[in-house]
Amino acid sequence: MSATAGTTRLAPSPTGPLHLGHAFAFLAAWVLARRQGWRILLRLDDLDAPRVRSSGHDTLETLRWLGLEWDGEPIRQSERLARHRAAVERLAETGVIFASPQSRQEVREAAAAVGAPHEDDGHVVFPASLRPPPGPDWAFTDPAINHRLRVDQGQVAVHDELLGPRAFDPGAQHGDFLVWTKAGVPSYQLACAVDDAELGVTDVVRGEDLLESAALQTLLLRRMGRTPPRWWHLPLVRDAQGRRLAKRDGAEGLDALRRSGVSADRVRGLAAWWLGLSPLEPLSTEALLAHASIEGIRDRIGQGASPQADAETLAWLHGSGVATDTLAAHAGRRAVE
Ligand code: GLU
Repeated sequence: MSATAGTTRLAPSPTGPLHLGHAFAFLAAWVLARRQGWRILLRLDDLDAPRVRSSGHDTLETLRWLGLEWDGEPIRQSERLARHRAAVERLAETGVIFASPQSRQEVREAAAAVGAPHEDDGHVVFPASLRPPPGPDWAFTDPAINHRLRVDQGQVAVHDELLGPRAFDPGAQHGDFLVWTKAGVPSYQLACAVDDAELGVTDVVRGEDLLESAALQTLLLRRMGRTPPRWWHLPLVRDAQGRRLAKRDGAEGLDALRRSGVSADRVRGLAAWWLGLSPLEPLSTEALLAHASIEGIRDRIGQGASPQADAETLAWLHGSGVATDTLAAHAGRRAVE
């Protein structure tokens, strides 16, 4: 297969130690890339300054331990700020960006006043009532002020290579969303869309928590005159209670597992088993690739695979001989809708 078949990226955020969910997603991305001859970039998403905890070297070290490699030097989003800013300026010239100096509280109150929906996690839909009238606010002049993209109502289709066709209505679900923050950095959505487009990323493989972001990024990319990439969203790894793993959770942390003697072969084997590629067994990187099949992954994900990092799974990682039929029952369990 030719080297120009496509490009993907592994995009960790150095905001804390990686866990089994990251291992699953990055190994899956790597397997898909190697099977299809894609170039693999490594992008450190290090713009969220208050949350960034390290230079990213420990993150890279953990990925190498998993057996992952990539093409070229790692790319840091923090070194691409001028490009992000130029992209916002170009968008502003087309009249779709406006300054939004309101505080979070002001946005919440305005949203409540017009009965805009909000969720318990603090997510608020930016109400159109706060859009400024035509005039000088529709520009990007002060990078110390939040700026938003005008989002019109209407469905945005996202065709996911693993999950099939989906549709979102970003206008109703988010309203005008942030493209630039008063911290002087782009929002995740803007930085991600700009970098994916400019770095030639054709295939984005990542966790399902970002599926809705694919709709926002599609909007941005269209506004920028770019073609959206193909999307491959993977199910999230959950604990025995069905909660997604978080960086603060210790037991499933890759560094903690490694320190306690768990081999990378076992982590790869677990990821392959979650992907439906092999029975539960330790795997070298070569063996993982040998087992990999795109159709196998599609089938598994299409059937609603729900990877679970429960006590039995962790015990197997640590070398216990857990009955694989117990584990198989777990692997087959569907996500609770
Ligand atoms: N850096 C993001 C994260 O760790 C992923 C961004 C992306 O894949 O689009 O959640």
